[in-house]
Amino acid sequence: MSAQIIDGKAVAAKVRDQVAVKVAEMKEKHNYTPGLATVLVGEDPASATYVRSKQRMCERLGIRSVGHTLPADASQEDVESLVSQLNADPEVNGILVQLPLPKHLDEEAVLNSISLEKDVDGFHPVNIGRLAMKGREPLFIPCTPHGCMVLLEDAGVETSGAEAVIVGRSNIVGLPMAMLLQKANATVTICHSRTKDLVEHLKRADIVVAAIGIPEMIKGDMLKPGTAVIDVGINRVDDPEAKRGYRLVGDVDYDSAAEVAGAITPVPGGVGPMTIAMLMQNTLRAAEIAISKQ
Ligand code: NAD
Repeated sequence: MSAQIIDGKAVAAKVRDQVAVKVAEMKEKHNYTPGLATVLVGEDPASATYVRSKQRMCERLGIRSVGHTLPADASQEDVESLVSQLNADPEVNGILVQLPLPKHLDEEAVLNSISLEKDVDGFHPVNIGRLAMKGREPLFIPCTPHGCMVLLEDAGVETSGAEAVIVGRSNIVGLPMAMLLQKANATVTICHSRTKDLVEHLKRADIVVAAIGIPEMIKGDMLKPGTAVIDVGINRVDDPEAKRGYRLVGDVDYDSAAEVAGAITPVPGGVGPMTIAMLMQNTLRAAEIAISKQ
């Protein structure tokens, strides 16, 4: 069997186009431009790259972006007072604090300090709590797992009644992904580093979401034929033949998995582009909320 390739680039482009159209309409109808504030603490090169690409995407879609950078030794008070300044700024609709924060900072307290209505990453405990509860809806859904759900939907994968196995239980991917699939009526199993027999779980999964951070850990022979595979992993592996000396691979061994799966996301070009697209959608939503309160 050869799997249907779930083209994250194409789906993300669709989402971004819809956002750009709505941003333009908002400017015309309300004379209002959505704004995203990014907060980067320290000089981690990967974090700086992520922030820059988010800012560039804002510009492309007509969203105003304002970047704030604090030194690596910024105090808890410095970070929280910047966040409260942004909470009060009517030109800022979304606040994105780039994670991970330097170790001396209390991430939970920082995320708690972001106004619920500006929590475009969807990491505020109240938004996560609402995501977990039946009959409650968060204002914002975390971008990466939300992007995975959009990919499943676009690929026509049935979630209702499906056996879904999430590998990884991080706060930013695995856990909210499990909550979303559960809300979409899947029967959800969360596997993690202490899971005794991962293959046993994978073998009965109609949907597999891999968010582990171990290059190509899940092989084709671990999967049930026809399963839908969403590979969240982004790992650098050395490749002397590649221009940059490395290439990106997922947490799933794409070649062997594509032989067995019914549908699969490639890396790169799968989940990656969806994360920023969903952030743009959340920022637009934050602006819509602000307008509705005017
Ligand atoms: P994390 O390190 O916070 O969590 C990894 C999870 O994998 C943990 O819950 C752990 O229990 C589990 N795990 C580790 N070893 C395991 C094993 N042998 N068997 C089963 N489970 C195991 O990572 P994260 O932040 O959730 O990120 C996961 C991957 O997704 C990384 O490759 C990261 O780069 C990528 N990522 C991609 C995007 C995107 O936009 N595409 C966004 C966030 C993260």
